[in-house]
Amino acid sequence: MDFSLSKEQLMIQGMAKEFAEKYIEPVAEQIDRENKIPDNILKGLAELDLFGIPYDEAYGGADGGYDGYVLAMEQIGKASGGVAMTISAHSLALSAISFFGTEELKKKYMTPSCKGEHIASFAFTEPATGSDPKSLTTTAKKVGNEYVINGTKRFISNANWPGVIVVFAIDDQTNKPSAFLIDKLCEGYSISEPWDKIGMHGGMLLDVYLNDVKVPLENMLGGPSMGYPILQCGISFGKVGVSSTALGGTLAAYEEAMKYATEKMHRDAPIAKFQAMQLRLADLAIKYETARWMTYRLGWLANNVKDPRAFARDAALTKTFVCDNMVDCARIAMDVHGSYGLMNDYKISRIWKDSIIGPQIEGVADMQKMIVAGVNLAERK
Ligand SMILES: Cc1cc2nc3c(=O)[nH]c(=O)nc-3n(C[C@H](O)[C@H](O)[C@H](O)COP(=O)(O)OP(=O)(O)OC[C@H]3O[C@@H](n4cnc5c(N)ncnc54)[C@H](O)[C@@H]3O)c2cc1C
Repeated sequence: MDFSLSKEQLMIQGMAKEFAEKYIEPVAEQIDRENKIPDNILKGLAELDLFGIPYDEAYGGADGGYDGYVLAMEQIGKASGGVAMTISAHSLALSAISFFGTEELKKKYMTPSCKGEHIASFAFTEPATGSDPKSLTTTAKKVGNEYVINGTKRFISNANWPGVIVVFAIDDQTNKPSAFLIDKLCEGYSISEPWDKIGMHGGMLLDVYLNDVKVPLENMLGGPSMGYPILQCGISFGKVGVSSTALGGTLAAYEEAMKYATEKMHRDAPIAKFQAMQLRLADLAIKYETARWMTYRLGWLANNVKDPRAFARDAALTKTFVCDNMVDCARIAMDVHGSYGLMNDYKISRIWKDSIIGPQIEGVADMQKMIVAGVNLAERK
């Protein structure tokens, strides 16, 4: 067992840290206020291959592994949860294509996405379902050598940018969910105004309307009725991104608390002199370290998934812990700030608003616990 980072891992971490501190951090408040990531940030992320860290060079990726991905995402998430979530949602789609796609699909859709020319999306949620694949209402009807897709997808990240979208629909050939790769902005594809979400600004969330969208048969991902396994497995990789984004937010909360506690004076001494304050800072350190090693381990596990069910369990338990932990840390850091933390001028208020998103996305916390319990009980049989 070796917990030290390799030369390559340190390089990826250092590169992401430098970019995040130099370019993202100075405009993080602006991104939050305007709900828009400046073009030069997207361009810079692309130039550093940060849209394709874990993927094969053959498909335009950086071949940095999910361990490298986690290290980079922590640094980006520390500067801006919204920027990290954009990459996380994009990578969720790419991981599903990478795991289940044919050589042709991977070449066609992953290459421009890994290079950051396109930003990918993954569309499962609908107005009537976020957790239950059996309640999907989007349909895919086979007509000749095409599928015709109709339906509405809700809360879809990155749906406004050009690129591929993985769409889940009930396949009329099997009456079960299948997954399809669609070019966003094709004929029949339209989007709503962005949702006015509470945090993670920058990454936009939109509804997607699919009106007689035609896709060639070969754009079905993984084969007929593979929708549920693709959802489960793809979203497990997605949880690597969500966990590392939350880990970055946790580190930011910890650092903001340390900064405030050592700068805010009370009778000519910093409030960090109070033992109660030190206990809070110690709790933050303990919580950050726990989340850090769980998330790094998940990145390492994602590099070599042999048993998707066991990986789904590890991804679910890591995501649940790390995201809930970020909420706790943001709350503790808010307390350190007193009323100042409730003011939008203070970074901790943004971190707190970002924190409460993690437990609800890529599977709500309760559903994650059901996955953990389900796999553990099945292993005892
Ligand atoms: C920032 C953000 C980004 C997102 N990005 C995407 C995206 O890119 N693609 C996408 O497809 N979706 C996306 N979503 C949607 C998100 O994944 C879903 O909203 C989420 O999975 C929860 O679904 P829901 O809101 O419909 O909740 P529901 O599934 O309706 O759950 C509501 C409550 O009911 C409980 N519940 C549900 N089913 C059961 C059950 N069987 N047993 C017990 N309790 C149950 C849940 O635990 C929860 O407490 C995004 C959402 C946000 C906020």
